[in-house]
Amino acid sequence: MLDKVVIANRGEIALRILRACHALGIKTVAVHSTVDRNLKHVAMADESVCIGPPPSAQSYLDIPAIIAAAEVTDAQAIHPGYGFLSENADFAERVEKSGFVFIGPKADTIRLMGDKVEAIAAMKSAGVPCVPGSGGPLGDDSAENARIAKEIGYPVIIKAAGGGGGRGMRVVHTEAHLHNAIGTTQSEAKAAFGNAMVYMEKFLENPRHVEIQVLADGQGSAIHLGERDCSMQRRHQKVVEESPAPGLTAAQRDEIGRVCVEACIRIGYRGAGTFEFLYEDGRFYFIEMNTRIQVEHPVTEMVTGIDLVREQLLIASGKKLSIKQSDVVLNGHAIECRINAEDPESFLPCPGLIKHFHAPGGPGVRVDSHIYEGYRVPANYDSMIGKLIVHAASREQAIARMRVALSEMVVDGIKTNIPLQQRIMADRGFQQGGMNIHYLEKRLKEQKDRAIDLG
Ligand code: ADP
Repeated sequence: MLDKVVIANRGEIALRILRACHALGIKTVAVHSTVDRNLKHVAMADESVCIGPPPSAQSYLDIPAIIAAAEVTDAQAIHPGYGFLSENADFAERVEKSGFVFIGPKADTIRLMGDKVEAIAAMKSAGVPCVPGSGGPLGDDSAENARIAKEIGYPVIIKAAGGGGGRGMRVVHTEAHLHNAIGTTQSEAKAAFGNAMVYMEKFLENPRHVEIQVLADGQGSAIHLGERDCSMQRRHQKVVEESPAPGLTAAQRDEIGRVCVEACIRIGYRGAGTFEFLYEDGRFYFIEMNTRIQVEHPVTEMVTGIDLVREQLLIASGKKLSIKQSDVVLNGHAIECRINAEDPESFLPCPGLIKHFHAPGGPGVRVDSHIYEGYRVPANYDSMIGKLIVHAASREQAIARMRVALSEMVVDGIKTNIPLQQRIMADRGFQQGGMNIHYLEKRLKEQKDRAIDLG
């Protein structure tokens, strides 16, 4: 078993990792920027190291500083959390070359999944259903590109091979716009990701976002833990997540889950991972694999009873998976609301001092958050200040529980999106379930237009 782990992250996920480590008797080292010395997990960690000033580039993204922190504290492993360096193959490689364990997949796997063209090719050959597309990078021959688009059928989407965070994509509806769209996406991709390579896919018009959680030990065993529906999105950012996905049958889950597990074994996957799919008309289309723990992992934990971060730590310790596929039983329904320090109308970030904080509670209510009364939310990082997760026997009961929990939650001093989450939970379409990825933005626009109408 690992003895000491560096937590190379901040906020709620750093606290989440710390708790899993301590429950396994693993010591922790918190690394933090100067503005983050008052974070909860820094106080709770066995040791802490300040690694730089507030800008992420000089602290949470500073690879030598993080490796040096592992060296001076004599730690054995580094947990990257999500965001920051979690999907940086060079970081994973340097961690391992420096003699530490990277808590995640091998660097080569991260590199493979980071290049979407290669990732899709690897998945396709492993039998994972993908979006009909160019099957490789687009060249300069505009007649050939037009032929590919025609074969796929308009609308198509041009995507950057090195893209991420919902950037580097362009939808094309007619051949007249194809050539320019490819050129623009290529130059944007070159500027943003240092890689001009783009590819083409069929643009699915009304998909849902459904993803499969997997665990693999890198020693020949892998399992899936069912799915999450993350279709409630704004600007490609997930706002609400749930498990199971409304309307998905056990047969569909078993089938897509089995395909993902086989792909994990085939590519020698190690650790926790997520296969992201667009889901339309009962069919799954792979879009990308995330090679890290995800923000929305708690909904899976609530319905399976499996602690995913604990499993990550056990796998990184070299243990074989102790959970068999037949041990994974989905129980009830879980929903997560992301709580952001932002204006619920304009969505602008609202950092500042939390004057008063009251966390909700009761059966099936979980709060994953690092905030406390007197904590100042810095302006330097993501605006998420916590996650509210509920679990109940049915989806309907979970929504009812979430509404009570949101009404109990008090975060005074800064603005939060709690009012928006309350509106979503009260929304008929959400309550019905199974809405597509455009639904939330459509509803927000309708509400805005109505507010304007009312003067
Ligand atoms: P990123 O790594 O930037 O998040 P993804 O490939 O995961 O890129 O795509 C992000 C989002 O873009 C998806 O969740 C979906 O909303 C939209 N999208 C991507 N590909 C398609 C497609 N082929 N058809 C429709 N929407 C798509």
